[in-house]
Amino acid sequence: MMTQVQPKRIYVDVDDVVSMTTITYPGIVQEQFGKVVSFESLTCFDLKTSFDLTENEFHYLFDLIHEPKLLLGFRAMAGAKETLEAWADQGHAIEIVTGRPESAREVTLEWLKKQEIPYDEFIMVDKYKRQGNDLAISKAELAQRPYDLAVEDSGDMAIFLAGQMGVEVALVDQPWNRSCSGHENMVRCMDWQQIRAMAAQAVILPENPSTDINKDETK
Ligand SMILES: [Mg+2]
Repeated sequence: MMTQVQPKRIYVDVDDVVSMTTITYPGIVQEQFGKVVSFESLTCFDLKTSFDLTENEFHYLFDLIHEPKLLLGFRAMAGAKETLEAWADQGHAIEIVTGRPESAREVTLEWLKKQEIPYDEFIMVDKYKRQGNDLAISKAELAQRPYDLAVEDSGDMAIFLAGQMGVEVALVDQPWNRSCSGHENMVRCMDWQQIRAMAAQAVILPENPSTDINKDETK
């Protein structure tokens, strides 16, 4: 007899949640602008502020960090794939929800495939009020979508999800969200092991859906 698990709908962000993205930026900034800024000192989500860049430098960096070759080379966060596979196996629906610009759509899909990240839907959301993102839905449209759990690293998005949308949120700890005020629906998680445990507790996703005792195996 298998344990019945109610299928849940899970929102999963890409950058700095499943993809090790921003960790690559200090090296790029040092190479391009000669500025030495440590990852831990990136306490602001806005890269222009965090790296103390001029408007021109920021636009140059923004284009550079969205180049397909760079995006394709990012490593996956430890435990992300395994956890998402486990959730998919339990019948939960996984939605990859990214705030990347629409120019990054195809390469992001390619990266997810290359990393063998399982998901049911891929949606682009205008999380940061960028212009010319026609493929992206607005935050108001996002709010119409029901989620049981969201995994995010942006403090503002996490508050939006937890507060306005009433979603249980696993906030992936990053230097830029440490000053995030927090919310009763939000749990700060240091890694995917903690995210998995939080989900098991808060959203009732048993970590072991079928126990050995009840396993229906004949061999
Ligand atoms: Mg992110």
